[in-house]
Amino acid sequence: MADFDPDRDEVIARARDAEVVAIITIGSDLKGSEGAVRLAREYDFIYAAVGIHPHDAKDYTSDTAEKLRQWSGEKKVVALGETGLDYHYDHSPRDIQREVFERQLALALELNLPVIVHSREAKADTLNILSESGISRGVLHCFSGDMEMAERVMAMGLYVSFAGPVTFKNAKRLQEIAACIPDEYLLIETDAPYLSPAPMRGKRNEPSFLLHTARKLAELRDVGVGDIARITTLNAGRLFGIGGASPEGKIAYKIRDSLYLNITNRCTNACTFCIRFHSDYVKGHNLRLDHEPGIEELKKAIGDPSAYKEVVFCGYGEPLMRLDLVKALARWIKDNGGRVRINTNGQGNLMHGRNILPELQGIVDAISISLDAQDEKTYQTICRPFLKDAYKGVLSFIREAVKYIPDVTVTVVDAPGVDVEMCKKIAKELNVRFRLRQYNLVG
Ligand code: SF4
Repeated sequence: MADFDPDRDEVIARARDAEVVAIITIGSDLKGSEGAVRLAREYDFIYAAVGIHPHDAKDYTSDTAEKLRQWSGEKKVVALGETGLDYHYDHSPRDIQREVFERQLALALELNLPVIVHSREAKADTLNILSESGISRGVLHCFSGDMEMAERVMAMGLYVSFAGPVTFKNAKRLQEIAACIPDEYLLIETDAPYLSPAPMRGKRNEPSFLLHTARKLAELRDVGVGDIARITTLNAGRLFGIGGASPEGKIAYKIRDSLYLNITNRCTNACTFCIRFHSDYVKGHNLRLDHEPGIEELKKAIGDPSAYKEVVFCGYGEPLMRLDLVKALARWIKDNGGRVRINTNGQGNLMHGRNILPELQGIVDAISISLDAQDEKTYQTICRPFLKDAYKGVLSFIREAVKYIPDVTVTVVDAPGVDVEMCKKIAKELNVRFRLRQYNLVG
C-alpha cells in the first residue's frame, strides 16, 4: 500500500525486532497483489496472498483470474485473498460481489490454496456462498461477526482471525467471542495500515503493533502472551503451509506460570470431547508422543521445579496409568522445592485394584479430578470408560482423595447433557472445590 512507500524497509525491520516471525502481505486488487508478490520475493519471512477485494469486484475479468492463476505458481504465494463481500460500503454492486466471490473460491479450490475472506455486514450471503463452495481451508479475516457465524465457519474448517478492533474499549461483544474461539482456530493479524490496536489507535498500523493485539488476546483468554504467540504462529503455519516441519511431541510444556508434564497418551476413557481425538496440539504444543518418557528424561525437561508455580501431571492421557513414575517424580519435585498437582480422571484405584491415595500423601499438593457427569448413565455416554463401574469408582476416589491430599478440586466440562448444577451439588456434598471447564477450551 502507498501508505508504506516512504519507509517500507523500516517498517519491516521493526516487525523483525518485534519478533514477528512471518508476514503474509495481502493483495486486494491487481496492483496490490503484484506488490505483495514482489515483497515476498525480496524478504525471506514475507509471504503473499493474491486476490480481489469485494470493493473492486466490478473490475474482475477473466484476465484477472488468469493473472491470479499465474501468481499462484510462485512458491511464496500462500493464499487467495482478500475476497468476500462488503455490504457496508457497497463499492461494487452486491450481485457482482457475490459472483466474483464465488469465482475466486472456485479458483482457490482449483489452485489448492486457502482463502482469506472479508465479510462485512454480509453474514447470510457469506455463509451461504462459503458452504456451497466446498471450501474447507481459509480464514475469516478481521472477524467482526457474531458467535453463530464463528461457529458456522469453524464447522467448515475455517479459522477466525482478530485484528486491532478486539483491543477497543467498546468492543465487548467481539472480546467475548475472542475469549472462547478454540485454540485450533485462532489467528491474529494487523490489517495494516488500517485498524491500529489500542494504544496506537489513530496511527498508521504496522506489523510490529501486533504485539498489542496479542497482549489483549492473552488477557481475554487468561494465558500468557507467549502462549498466544505460539498458538497463532503454529496455526498460521498449518493453514498457509509456512514455517518448518511439525515439532516433536513435548514431554514438558509451559502454560502461564506452570509446567505441565505429558507422560502418556494412554487413557482408560475415550471422552467425546477429548482433544486427543481431533488435534495433536494443546496451546500450540505438540503433545503426540512417539514414546513414553522415562524419569531421567523428565527431570532433565523440568530443570528446576521451584521455578514454576506448580508442576502438573497432565498432558494428553491419564497420568496415573504410570503410577510408579508419578510417585518417584513427584517425590523428586518436592525434594527440589516444587509444588505438585495431578490432573486425573479419578480411576486410579480401579486401574490398580487398590487404594492408591495413601501412596500419594506428602508428595502431591493438589489433585484435580474429572467428575464430568451427574450420574452413571451420563458418564457412560460422555466419557465412554473402558473400566467397569467407572463412575462409582470416580466418586469413591474423590472421597479417598480428601483424606490424603490437601487440595482437591473436581472439574466438569460443560458438554451437552451435563447438568452442571447437579455436579456442583455433588462436589459440595463431597466437600471439595468445583471448577467448570469450557467445552471447547483445553489447557
Ligand atoms: S479422561 Fe482426559 S485424556 Fe482421558 S479421554 Fe477423557 S479427556 Fe481424554
